[in-house]
Amino acid sequence: MSPSGTKRPLVLSAVQTGITHCNRCPRLRTYCQDVGRVKRAAYRQDTYWARPVPGFGDPAARILVLGLAPAAHGANRTGRVFTGDGAGGSGDFLMSALQRAGFANRSTSQRADDGLQLTDVYIAAAVRCAPPANRPLPEEVDRCLAHLLDEVAALPKLEMVIALGKIAWDAWLKLLVQQGVALPRPRPVFSHGAVLHLGTLAPGHPGTLAPWHPGTLVGMYHPSRQNTNTGTVTPAMYDAVLRKVRSRISG
Ligand code: SF4
Repeated sequence: MSPSGTKRPLVLSAVQTGITHCNRCPRLRTYCQDVGRVKRAAYRQDTYWARPVPGFGDPAARILVLGLAPAAHGANRTGRVFTGDGAGGSGDFLMSALQRAGFANRSTSQRADDGLQLTDVYIAAAVRCAPPANRPLPEEVDRCLAHLLDEVAALPKLEMVIALGKIAWDAWLKLLVQQGVALPRPRPVFSHGAVLHLGTLAPGHPGTLAPWHPGTLVGMYHPSRQNTNTGTVTPAMYDAVLRKVRSRISG
């Protein structure tokens, strides 16, 4: 059973479909639909997705990249996470880094039909609906954790989670606590390049994650324009962390 009390689908495609039909957060659902109706002038010919955005990537992934939430005119328009937020936006920054590290076949992510393929990586967001001003409420993050748990449970090879920013980092830790994982004290704090090893769940743990749950959490700054345009995060900083990630996954 998921934290929401619903029976969890076991197949990734069923989990993804279930996410797209979620209506648990009226504020976010209304906002996403309004954005899709009004549109940005540059995208007035597009039909916006305007629904919750499921994760995307390799079903056999060992690495989960966890972002914050869809962008109103990005993934909320295209229906694919980190896709369509403009040339040089967060999707392009992330995908070019993943391509340099050998995890993606393209360096851009502007259209859902662009042929992008991820290898060993699955990308999801802590919150699946675009929030006003990119700021979900804490209760909206909490509510959406059930979807993350379902998706992770349908990705049996995951070993590692890369949290893009503090909200994603804290969301992952909260999900682990819900699942019975005892966190180190003091509670680990997000930073770029931070690596946290969380071990395995104790036998008989009360949660629904498999005992092997992704045992390593890595922090990376979010690739928002606010961070990339100011030099808070650079391609070299992403490359350094992804080299570390590459060296730590098994095999
Ligand atoms: S944010 Fe998550 S829980 Fe809330 S409506 Fe969207 S998909 Fe559902």
